Amino acid sequence: MNKKYILALDQGTTSSRAILYDHQGNICSVAQKEFKQYFPQPGWVEHDPRDIYSSQISVAAEAMARLHIHDNAVAAIGITNQRETTIVWDRKSGEPVYNAIVWQDRRTSSYCDHLKAAGHQQMIKNKTGLEIDAYFSATKIKWILDHIAGARDKANRGELAFGTVDSWLIWKLTNGNHHLTDFSNASRTMLFNIHSLEWDEDLLRLFDIPVSMLPEVRANSGLFAYTDSIIFSTKIPITGVAGDQQAAMFGQLCIRKGMVKNTYGTGCFIMMNTGDKAITSKNRLLTTIGWQLNGKTTYALEGSVFVGGAVIQWLRDGMGFFSHTKSSEKLAASVPDTGGVYFVPAFTGLGAPYWNQDARGLIYGLTRGTTKAHLTRAALESIAFQSYDVIKAMEKDAGITIEKLRVDGGAAANDLLMQIQADLLQTTVQRPSILESTSLGAAYFAGLGIGYWSNVDEIASQWKLQKEFSPKGSPENSIIKVKEWHKAIEMIQQP
Ligand code: ADP
Repeated sequence: MNKKYILALDQGTTSSRAILYDHQGNICSVAQKEFKQYFPQPGWVEHDPRDIYSSQISVAAEAMARLHIHDNAVAAIGITNQRETTIVWDRKSGEPVYNAIVWQDRRTSSYCDHLKAAGHQQMIKNKTGLEIDAYFSATKIKWILDHIAGARDKANRGELAFGTVDSWLIWKLTNGNHHLTDFSNASRTMLFNIHSLEWDEDLLRLFDIPVSMLPEVRANSGLFAYTDSIIFSTKIPITGVAGDQQAAMFGQLCIRKGMVKNTYGTGCFIMMNTGDKAITSKNRLLTTIGWQLNGKTTYALEGSVFVGGAVIQWLRDGMGFFSHTKSSEKLAASVPDTGGVYFVPAFTGLGAPYWNQDARGLIYGLTRGTTKAHLTRAALESIAFQSYDVIKAMEKDAGITIEKLRVDGGAAANDLLMQIQADLLQTTVQRPSILESTSLGAAYFAGLGIGYWSNVDEIASQWKLQKEFSPKGSPENSIIKVKEWHKAIEMIQQP
């Protein structure tokens, strides 16, 4: 039998990627293409849904061409995507009625303030696990129905469809024959009841969205549909779908309760598997669906840090400290500590667990002896401190002490940062050999869905450690440093 691959489509915020995985979970081919970002007004971010599809299809073709395979060598397709981004299209023509409103878009934030003032927060949190925020799809759908001429009438007549990016790709790949999504993407719309696992009637009424617009929600792994496009010559089964962070958690094999992953990218995205329990956070973390597999729903707590690796970019671009982010490690390692400097990179406010939109950055503890090296070390520490605060909030909410932290993302390549994280948490940090957790997770869902891999144990045995960081510093030192960090946090919280 000819060798077969799983094709993971990783549709991100700035680029579309396609990765072919083999049976051992090795990356065999990768292609990536950036697409245009539209900023029509301050705070607005849009994509052209046609670009999303065409860039995704072109990288799929490129990844196959690079490996010299035809699409009959693809056993199944897995899709993972930027979450919450909202597309509304005409069912008959298949044309979007408006651009995709991207998760970052803030146009509905004053409407969200109004919803909070009207006292809807608790009800929405109870049903969806989310804080009321413009990120999530619900207010974006409402915006399109309220602002695009004729859209609401068409929607009321059942002529429009809504989808997150996964739904849009499935629709396009099946030539408009299937309107589907998965539990992880549905749980980010602010319309889905994560306990009853249904679109919520009360929320649909509140946002004035007809139920006919919504996709059918499926488990993450299993047959969604076969492709039916002119692009592929064979009908390829789409058998795995998950939002990007959930896919990353699965790709990291955080498959047991209490396992945590942190993706160190521009921001940091932290997720804890909380098993079959949806834990309501007392620290304003989000409760979300991780995935549904073999009829069992796995929930997660999620928290994010707004400025993670971006603080290193700022030192590079804003301060001119070095020309490559990689150099931050050598520079910071040239000093044994920060010399008492603490750096809170609250450039855009503070996220979980502080949630202060108005907070701004602070560097404290400067002396005549402070150098670029100390500041860079303090910047790396700030990434670890912020992640520490989220993880501690998760531990409190879940009543679980984490044993290990699994890491990925661009800044996870920094050994010093990983050691600092291990010391602060007094927990082992594990970096896998494949840092492509997101696409790997999508591939795993797809492969499990078609029997390419027989069960989770089989793929769990593929997870390979590249490097492990055990705590080296003393627990006392970690406690002292965290205290100082929290002092700095308090300083910027003062009015
Ligand atoms: P994203 O997917 O959010 O674009 P990536 O996972 O590609 O992010 O990671 C890029 C981020 O990681 C950038 O903010 C960059 O500053 C940071 N970064 C990359 N390499 C390093 C490094 N060796 N040390 C510290 N930060 C790094």
